[in-house]
Amino acid sequence: MKTILTTSAREAAEFIRRGGTVAFPTETVYGLGANVFDEKAVAKIFAAKRRPNDNPLIAHVGNFGQIESLVSEITPSAQKFIEAFFPAPLTLVLPKAERVPFSATANLETIGVRMPKNDSALEFLRQCETPLVAPSANLSGRPSPTTWQAVYEDLNGRIDCILQGAAATEIGLESTVVDCTANAPLVLRAGAITLEDLQKIVPDTLIYQVSKDEQPKSPGLKHRHYSPRARVILISDLKFRVSNGSAYIGLNEPYEKFDLIKICQSVKDYAHEFFNFFRECDRRHIKRIYCETVEEKGIGLALMDRLKRAAVSGTLSP
Ligand code: AMP
Ligand code: MG
Repeated sequence: MKTILTTSAREAAEFIRRGGTVAFPTETVYGLGANVFDEKAVAKIFAAKRRPNDNPLIAHVGNFGQIESLVSEITPSAQKFIEAFFPAPLTLVLPKAERVPFSATANLETIGVRMPKNDSALEFLRQCETPLVAPSANLSGRPSPTTWQAVYEDLNGRIDCILQGAAATEIGLESTVVDCTANAPLVLRAGAITLEDLQKIVPDTLIYQVSKDEQPKSPGLKHRHYSPRARVILISDLKFRVSNGSAYIGLNEPYEKFDLIKICQSVKDYAHEFFNFFRECDRRHIKRIYCETVEEKGIGLALMDRLKRAAVSGTLSP
């Protein structure tokens, strides 16, 4: 398959209309989109990404009306979050509408819905005239793509089209996922909309903790994620010895010499940079990436979640 590169939302939307797959920029990372109501198109996403089919997809909408076509109910907490945040890097899990195929939700009775806060993404969604399911546009398990070049690296020849953004995506981390089906909203995945932000709107919002012998509520949580080929090592103390083929990313200058170093200006900047840095390390055949840990609050919670997952090799649970 030939992958077409374009900066035209209209040209890209044509591929969606014909049942194809298109990678497009959002404010979080690049998504790989297909028409949510077209089962064959949805299947192409799983094949292109080599995504396990028990990992559900997030539906993206370009306007508020489309939310109602995807869900059977907007619960009171979801209504509050929609009013307070949408469009935003925030996915709300709600009971799915009957016409949403189970292939999109990995057989769950619920669907994650979000409205991206990015002009190119919204323009593209409007041109498509349908909600799109869109997981991150990387090969399953690899670091999420924050540039069209990263999408190209993983998916050239496997998808129909890449809608090219001018710069790296603004946030660089995937959306916050919140289950709004129960009484108290549960944060299933941390992101740029923080627990503190959510609690200002619905005070009893909680962080979901997977207990050891329970199946995780968010099926994606059990898969290997965000991993470069290099080994990722988390460090809080900067005094340690390193060998050749090592890289470092963090907020503070390390004492040792590394083959590649990235000093970030803030936790937000760190979150923006690290996926791209992981890919850069792989291109340079780095063997070990030392990542400085940050405080797990605000966007630091999301950053630490991704770093911890990248540092685990293999699946987190059987
Ligand atoms: P990605 O689109 O690759 O960023 O991954 C989407 C993630 O959102 C999945 O791996 C799940 O963890 C979560 N998710 C999506 N839909 C649902 C749902 N219906 N219920 C629970 N979690 C979901
Ligand atoms: Mg992903």
